[in-house]
Amino acid sequence: MTNDNFGFDTLAVRSGQQRTSELEHSEAIFATSSFVFENAAQAAARFAGDEPGNIYSRFTNPTTQAFERRLAALEGGEACVATASGMAAIMSLCVALLQGGDHIVSSRSVFGTTTTLFDKYLPRFGIDTSWVGMNDLQEWKQAIRANTRLLFLETPSNPLTEVADISALADLAHENDCLLVVDNCFCTPALQRPLDFGADLVVHSATKYLDGQGRIVGGAVVGPWQLVAEEIFAVIRTTGPSLSPFNAWVALKGLETLNLRMNAHSQQGMQLANFLVEHSAVEQVFYPGLESHPQYQLAQLQQQGFGGVVSFVVKGGREDAWRVIDATQMLSITANLGDVKTTITHPATTTHGRVSDELKREVGITEGLIRVAVGLENIEDIVTDLSRGLDA
Ligand SMILES: *Cc1c(COP(=O)(O)O)cnc(C)c1O
Repeated sequence: MTNDNFGFDTLAVRSGQQRTSELEHSEAIFATSSFVFENAAQAAARFAGDEPGNIYSRFTNPTTQAFERRLAALEGGEACVATASGMAAIMSLCVALLQGGDHIVSSRSVFGTTTTLFDKYLPRFGIDTSWVGMNDLQEWKQAIRANTRLLFLETPSNPLTEVADISALADLAHENDCLLVVDNCFCTPALQRPLDFGADLVVHSATKYLDGQGRIVGGAVVGPWQLVAEEIFAVIRTTGPSLSPFNAWVALKGLETLNLRMNAHSQQGMQLANFLVEHSAVEQVFYPGLESHPQYQLAQLQQQGFGGVVSFVVKGGREDAWRVIDATQMLSITANLGDVKTTITHPATTTHGRVSDELKREVGITEGLIRVAVGLENIEDIVTDLSRGLDA
């Protein structure tokens, strides 16, 4: 099947599948570590790279490839490589594209573990990171050095849902011979396609909305053939953070309902944000769909919807935030997001617990802040559950 002229939903359901001789309707799971050859000559040709085809599932696997082709089609990228987790995607990208002496400029508002990777582990290999405010273009400009290779960001950011101007940062990256990498975890290609705005690479935690039901850990990188299918793929097949065929299959089937789910998450997110804005126990609400959001216009331009993550500050401090969280009876107290089940978390002591107090202050992770990733239960029930602690 070629992808020409198909709409997003058709690609989500149909692209990437290669039926076997069994003519299965749904995609098969190839639970196999290796593949056999017709004869010794074919084995030699495969190993030499003279004949395309599978050798070993650390390199390629048909189920994993179906997921990769489908995600590439949805993001509008030439190629995709799947990884064992979102962090493996970011790590593999860095190992493939950077070397000692290189420099990264990253938004301060990125996933906590990404901060740890850039601050603690990459410096051991001579790669340093400068941290900048996501919406301060001047700060990005000033941080770029002659050895800067990557600009890195998440939009909307976690947990404060700040929105970055992808086009402006792509221009800045290209003027300086850098690549712009966007972690598209919160929106997924259903709501935002960073490559359309000039980003060079998209990274995903498939653990979140791509699976969408909290069943697996996985990741992916999407972008140009040369960077992704050659350079990053070569690192993955050598170093081993490959996605298992079973997990690839779960994420592949998740993509089939991605658009439906993201639209439902967005509708529920908007409803929850509107409820919280009106509540007297709430000091501030962070959601890109609110007109009061500082990048509301930009989000309208860049995104098809505003997603399921809503953060808010309760009046008081840590005790008050914890009281609201502990008063819930249905919501899941867990740091994961992108699930049909609504999750609630206290970023300052969980996802951002290892981040220094100084950085927490800089990025606005206060003690009263609560992050909700709205699931697909009835919104009335979600609101009732949150109201228990807010009304008390
Ligand atoms: C969860 C997450 C990651 C890391 O993904 P894992 O699959 O947990 O390794 C990276 N970026 C963002 C924005 C995330 O939410």
